[in-house]
Amino acid sequence: MIIQNYIEKIAKCSKPAEGVTRLPFTKEHKSANNLLKQWMSDAGLKISLDAAGTLIGKYFSPKKNVKTLLIGSHQDSGYNSGRYDGIMGVILPILALKELKKKKIILPYNVEILAFADEEGVRFPTALMGPRSLAGTFNKKDLKLKDKNNISIEQALKSFGCNPSKINSLKRNKKDLLGFFEVHIEQGPVLESKNLAVGIVNGISGISRFKLEIEGYASHAGTTPMHLRKDSLAATAEVINAVENLAKKNKNFLATMASIENRPNSVNAIPAKSLSFVECRSVDDKKRKKVEKEISKKIGLICKKRGLKFNLNKTYDQSAVSCDKKIMSTLKKSFQNLKLNPFVLMSGATHDASAMSDLCPISMLFVRSQKGLSHNPKEFTIEKDMQIAVKVIEKFLINFN
Ligand SMILES: [Zn+2]
Repeated sequence: MIIQNYIEKIAKCSKPAEGVTRLPFTKEHKSANNLLKQWMSDAGLKISLDAAGTLIGKYFSPKKNVKTLLIGSHQDSGYNSGRYDGIMGVILPILALKELKKKKIILPYNVEILAFADEEGVRFPTALMGPRSLAGTFNKKDLKLKDKNNISIEQALKSFGCNPSKINSLKRNKKDLLGFFEVHIEQGPVLESKNLAVGIVNGISGISRFKLEIEGYASHAGTTPMHLRKDSLAATAEVINAVENLAKKNKNFLATMASIENRPNSVNAIPAKSLSFVECRSVDDKKRKKVEKEISKKIGLICKKRGLKFNLNKTYDQSAVSCDKKIMSTLKKSFQNLKLNPFVLMSGATHDASAMSDLCPISMLFVRSQKGLSHNPKEFTIEKDMQIAVKVIEKFLINFN
């Protein structure tokens, strides 16, 4: 079994480009689903497509009245994106179940492999429709949202053979579920820096974003002495430096300032107004809120010292999600069975598992990304790492109950 062949084959279900462009409810999505259906049936799974466009492969345990473990990730990609993001988390669990079937290993619970239609949110101005429908958090009004060709989600679903009017009935009963498990490429450099193929995720970062406007006034760069300037951009630069230092001082906390607008943005005028954004991420919401306060205080001090006005407004806040401790310990045991280092890391990116956490306990397994690259045609995971991941999934399924 060469896993790279599966990845390459499904990567061809794409608009022509160096990387993969596979948007939800397109002919590329349909051809990817056809391959997945074939692979799911090779693994002995029973296939269905739900009203939100999620392709499902079910393993039925011979034991009756048992709960279900959900496993999956997304089939879609961004524009000219990578071959592994999302889809690898559908393929590897299918291959693990196929191996168990071959070895005649029977699980005392049901399994459903889910290939969600839309996680990236590239085609429509929303995302995570599949997991949100299962969790009962999908807003039916969103069915009216349109893509750039004026096609609504509702129309797209219908033309894909789904019945959007049934989307509310997809909500699952928590009591029937054991949890949700997602396998994903790391999309970062941590596993590579530790020389590890796979890692156990402890949580998905919370995120907050702030808009910062600093106001000074424009004056002549040649006639205004340094001490009489009200330079909004120099103040922003000081803020960027302070934010970076605060982030470095706090473990498990990331802060980024990556976007600036400056006025008048002229080579010989003192900047009068600078707009920038501060983004904070942490798996620890308490810590994130604490450092946010420190950042806000520091900005106040910098602007006061320079005699500048400022406005700091929160524009976005998403809470962190913790992975389930019990499922994490089953994963840890599976790593130890295979003599792998049960290394734990956080996820800085949002995943299908984030939306599934509204339904049931979640857990994630990360697989090393070469150079930490993702959302890039050069995204790559070596064969051996994927083989190790399949072995971990097999052990995890056996240990899980
Ligand atoms: Zn992804």
